Amino acid sequence: SPRALSAESPRGRAIADAAATVIPGGVNSSTRYIGAPYAFVAADGAYLTDADGRRYLDYHAAFGAILLGHNAPVVNDAIRTALDGVDLTGIGVTEAEVRLAQRIVEVIPSAESMIATMSGSEATAQAIRLARAVTDRDLIVKFQGGFHGWHDAVARNVISAPDKAYGRDPLSRGILDQAVDATLIAEFNDLDSVAALFDTHRDRIAAVILEPIPHNVGALLPTTEFVEGLRKLTEQQGALLIFDEVITGFRHALGGYQQVIGVTPDLTTFGKGMANGFPVGGLAGRRDLMEHFNGRTGDVLLAGTFNGNPLGCAAALATIDYLADHPEFYTRTHALGARIRTGLRGILAEFGIEATVAGFGGVFAVYFLSGPALGYRDLLRNDNGAYVDFHRGMTERGFLMLPMALKRNHVSGAHTEEEIDQTLEAAREVLKTLAR
Ligand code: PMP
Repeated sequence: SPRALSAESPRGRAIADAAATVIPGGVNSSTRYIGAPYAFVAADGAYLTDADGRRYLDYHAAFGAILLGHNAPVVNDAIRTALDGVDLTGIGVTEAEVRLAQRIVEVIPSAESMIATMSGSEATAQAIRLARAVTDRDLIVKFQGGFHGWHDAVARNVISAPDKAYGRDPLSRGILDQAVDATLIAEFNDLDSVAALFDTHRDRIAAVILEPIPHNVGALLPTTEFVEGLRKLTEQQGALLIFDEVITGFRHALGGYQQVIGVTPDLTTFGKGMANGFPVGGLAGRRDLMEHFNGRTGDVLLAGTFNGNPLGCAAALATIDYLADHPEFYTRTHALGARIRTGLRGILAEFGIEATVAGFGGVFAVYFLSGPALGYRDLLRNDNGAYVDFHRGMTERGFLMLPMALKRNHVSGAHTEEEIDQTLEAAREVLKTLAR
């Protein structure tokens, strides 16, 4: 079980101080939390151990890349075996790549063929370039709150301040103005907002890209009409529909959220949990579209020295094989997710705190706002400070959650009912202090 913290972290602090002198900000991603716990030395199952020997129950799960639990033996054993095989060739293909693509085609409803990248961003970049190529159009539609990677084509309007929402809100300086302006912003669960963009930009929209559940702002659950409507509208308008299942894929169902909602996109992107913490991304879809990547007959460049690398493919294959052989993974994580959501709702109600607990499967999000959250518009009312206090209190008690308000947390295959109940006990202590 998790161990409560003291304020001192001498070893972690020393590592963090050294990091800050040679790594900007001391971390390798602008979205990585800077603060205690500073550095980690071990990971197993549902737990992380920091440099000062404290154990944390992990719901952060590396932003969701950890699916089965840390250092899952089935995945690590597969990598150990792969280490003795072919490392990298740069010509031809390896068996692991073929087996991974076969598996994806078998389990993902929309997949007829697949390419393996190194990250989710690479997968969405390829999807968007492919969409522009096959439609010969320039514009992309994404939703306010959706995140699809760090590259120029999608790097805008994720968690926007109220005055920037739906407006021009690049995620960074250094992005081409033309790239920002080629990406249009719609409101999730609002089909009219998408239809309006198609009206304004006749025959110019190449694709609509969405997280079927926008987990980058917690968990906005899509209505079936909305997703079916997007399918019809894109078809009528000659644009592609891209599901970014980098978070939802394999986590919510073996066939992704497309299997849950029963809508088939043209292209699907994967990453994160697909290889249980090892760097692999994927793009799958209709064969006629994917054939544009064919180096002999196609017209869209697919490059990447490490694409389809044997270690990553072995990790992905082991993860997906495990999930295919253990359907109870889904009943279990869904039940534990429901347990923590229901428990949190009860505690929040008991203390009279205005909040909404959302989620799906093993994912849960705590919004400090009243009323349901259907679209990003509802999230503008969130009390971000309350979440920050909640996060701090949980971290102090040994429970790791995502530090940003409006994000989500993850139950992995390694969490137990007992640990969920310990989490709820800790949440009760923390939320009690937020009650007034
Ligand atoms: N799509 C979604 C839905 C994501 O959540 C992320 C990562 N947060 C990405 C794409 C980008 O993946 P990566 O960080 O592996 O490049």
